[in-house]
Amino acid sequence: MREIVLEARAVTRTYGTGTGATHALRGVDVEIEQGRFTAIIGASGCGKSTLLQALGGLDAPTSGKVLLEGQDLYALPDAALARLRRTRLGFVFQAFHLLPAYTVRDNILLPLLLDKREPDEEYLALLTRQLGLTALLQRQPTQLSGGQQQRAALARILVGKPRILMLDEPFSALDSYLREEVEGEVGSLLASFAGTALLVTHNRDEAYRLCKEMIVLNEGQVLRTGSTKAVFADPQSIAAARLTGCKNILPCTPLDSHTVRLDGWNTTLRLALPVPAGCTAVGIRAHDFTPCAADAPNAIPVKAVSTSENPFDWNLICTPPEGTAQLWWKVSKKSLCSAAPAAPQYLCAAPESIMPLKG
Ligand code: ADP
Ligand code: MG
Repeated sequence: MREIVLEARAVTRTYGTGTGATHALRGVDVEIEQGRFTAIIGASGCGKSTLLQALGGLDAPTSGKVLLEGQDLYALPDAALARLRRTRLGFVFQAFHLLPAYTVRDNILLPLLLDKREPDEEYLALLTRQLGLTALLQRQPTQLSGGQQQRAALARILVGKPRILMLDEPFSALDSYLREEVEGEVGSLLASFAGTALLVTHNRDEAYRLCKEMIVLNEGQVLRTGSTKAVFADPQSIAAARLTGCKNILPCTPLDSHTVRLDGWNTTLRLALPVPAGCTAVGIRAHDFTPCAADAPNAIPVKAVSTSENPFDWNLICTPPEGTAQLWWKVSKKSLCSAAPAAPQYLCAAPESIMPLKG
């Protein structure tokens, strides 16, 4: 049975008034399932943090409701809301907010002590071991690396055993090398966390690796919700396709229920998914093309106009033989020294890999 633990109903959040108003959220409805990890993804400024804060009882919507286990959060008296937030929810922000005057151990235990709750020493030992903090508990936060500080901040939240973890871009203050390391550790920790988690990120790979469910926001509105795999396989809109990292958004004209004409490429493509009314483009991921013969199904005539080399793949930018439209083809390298692929004359994409898009 689907158990909904947290929901937003017609949540609108407007900052300021009149002509200077910012509509950060516009009629957002979402349901968060118990025990699931959900990513909230979207471009910078689309309302991700505002939504997380509304769901977490930190910021009252201008209109609409937030229900935590059926309870209308913002109808509660302030003290009751604050208590609920401290005992049920665990926020992890971009900045770690560790107090420099206290040891790592005291930092981790502080929220519990302030709340006059007894720490579970066994759980603390388990957590600090899992997070590689055991040997660091007596240090001051300034004696920790960025990654260790982030893990201490996470331990501080988890030690209170929140029902719902709320993470707002928790890895973005870390450099890319550390980020991978901490994300790996947090990932395995989350895997053993029995609660519900919400992760705000603008990093699609992170969302894909850590979360089974996804909410795609665009300009304060929900564009798409569903399992992460389903959203990546069929983003349905141009904006959602871009957010999942689709390099090729190619304008098209629908011909019938499974065929489109690719505008500017003098070719038609067959899709496995039905072409919906209002389809204006198809999305094809750059690694989903293969060189083919002129008469192969879904063959697109191309001319390679530029080639660039990455450590593990080649990128080719192609245009039609006559014309200015562009597509990207990404070819994985077998080894660092693999030669560039021969310039193709035709590239094709399997019907299953072509995503019909609206908007
Ligand atoms: P995201 O987390 O997706 O980057 P935010 O939720 O922080 O986006 O912000 C959504 C929009 O609301 C942005 O246009 C932002 O400038 C605006 N905004 C956020 N917080 C405030 C605030 N306290 N006052 C005024 N505008 C705000
Ligand atoms: Mg934000």
